[in-house]
Amino acid sequence: MALRNIVKIGDPLLRKKSRPVTDFNERITTLIDDMKETLVDANGLGLAAPQVGVLRRVVIVVNNDGEYLELVNPEITARSQETVGAYEGCLSVPDERGYLERPRKVIVKAQDRTGKSFTISLEEMAARAACHETDHLDGTLFVDLTKELYTEEELDRMLSEQDGENED
Ligand code: ZN
Repeated sequence: MALRNIVKIGDPLLRKKSRPVTDFNERITTLIDDMKETLVDANGLGLAAPQVGVLRRVVIVVNNDGEYLELVNPEITARSQETVGAYEGCLSVPDERGYLERPRKVIVKAQDRTGKSFTISLEEMAARAACHETDHLDGTLFVDLTKELYTEEELDRMLSEQDGENED
């Protein structure tokens, strides 16, 4: 296993559409292992293959139990109407956060590293991560979807001001 470099916003690779995985070979296994190691090292909640410069439909999503889910050719097949708003970030967009509504619950159909199909239901932060990471596979970044973008410093200041108000 090896750490891979995380591609940053401005790199045209992040704007390309990734191709489905058809051969479940050793290259895919290595890619998944490297992505997992890179994600653990970066302390993130999800990572998509284009973020390490590989235009293949592979993502890793951390679920609400802290487990690393490997999703090959993931497809979100259902989204709850109910949404949850939160400030979201991305390992490819350092130091920025955007406010975004995402479905509270999603159903994802995917394959594992051997090509076996499965369906999982994800909620809350894991549902958000699944939406965010599958967006990456089509060249979409959270900065395209949010109307409110802040630097981490601005957001910290805003949130601490809000906390102050709540105490009154
Ligand atoms: Zn991202």
